[in-house]
Amino acid sequence: MSGFVLQRLTTITVSVKQFGRIPNLVQRLPSSLPSPKPTVSASQVPSLFREPYILTGYRPIHQNWYCYLLSLFQKHNESLNVWSHLLAAPLLLLRWWSHFGNLGYHLDISVLPLCLFIVSALICYFCSSVAHLFQSHSEHAHYYVFFMDYVGVAVYQYGCALGHYFYTSAPGWRASIFGQYFLHGTAFLGLMSSLGCCLAKSRYRKPYPLQRKICQIIPSSLAYFLGISPVVHRLLTVSWEEEPSLNMHALQILFFLCSALFFSCPIPECFFPGKFDIFGHGHQIFHVLLSLTTLSQLEAFFQEYARNRENIVDIFGESQIWWACVSFPVLAISCLLVAVTSMKSNDKNSLGVIL
Ligand SMILES: [Zn+2]
Repeated sequence: MSGFVLQRLTTITVSVKQFGRIPNLVQRLPSSLPSPKPTVSASQVPSLFREPYILTGYRPIHQNWYCYLLSLFQKHNESLNVWSHLLAAPLLLLRWWSHFGNLGYHLDISVLPLCLFIVSALICYFCSSVAHLFQSHSEHAHYYVFFMDYVGVAVYQYGCALGHYFYTSAPGWRASIFGQYFLHGTAFLGLMSSLGCCLAKSRYRKPYPLQRKICQIIPSSLAYFLGISPVVHRLLTVSWEEEPSLNMHALQILFFLCSALFFSCPIPECFFPGKFDIFGHGHQIFHVLLSLTTLSQLEAFFQEYARNRENIVDIFGESQIWWACVSFPVLAISCLLVAVTSMKSNDKNSLGVIL
């Protein structure tokens, strides 16, 4: 297990080292193509784009979209935020491919929640990478791409919940009130977390009041705690030696809690302002830990799926699995509508400020 984590960390470290060569790639582009402008300091971008304790490495706003795409190969303070999730996606797919290779391809309805989990993680990584890559284009783009990022997070939360329900939950937990309303509850809270984050982002301007954090954190935390409840129940009631997947579940919770800490607090940059502008600030650590959370979840789900796949349809029934799978795109579309509506209301608010 530790070997697996070390292997991932080594891959990420090697990828970080490649950044040293990146500016040369941008400089070698044909001169007819627009190329990204050099990065600037915090005082040279509007306050919306400034991050606490990050003093340099900002990309100037209002460049050509193509320049932001090319900034993938430029060293700036969002580089690792983009690359951490861009690299996590193929890693996840490789692990998926290798597990299926070992298990033998056995496609039936019992594998659907696992497929939705992978799809949800890829959607989340994609939305997050796009958000961090293009958010500096303009204020409008900043809001829009981060609303889409919240859609990705809500969809990923529901993908995890499906995996926890169909592969991890115990009969005693499923008979409880949590188990009976779990799928409806996690879908509803996923929508609420997307709504809360979009509302908080569009309604409050800097300096941000406490209500903004409350709008973001309460629905997202409730969605997480309900979503993880089958795992916690199993961790508390079953011997970890009997079920090796529980070690990976414990690891996914640990990675997630650490990631939540780095998401909420600007550590380590708050102690050394300006020293972690390009590499090592809290949001980057949050991204890496979130990727490790997903990889641990995948390992746990595959172990549980391999052990239980013959019984999953008998336990849950085909109709419940299909219902859960249909609810996934319904939730994704609902969150998308929330994001589009928030964008429209944000545009109206901005127009009101200008007028
Ligand atoms: Zn992010």
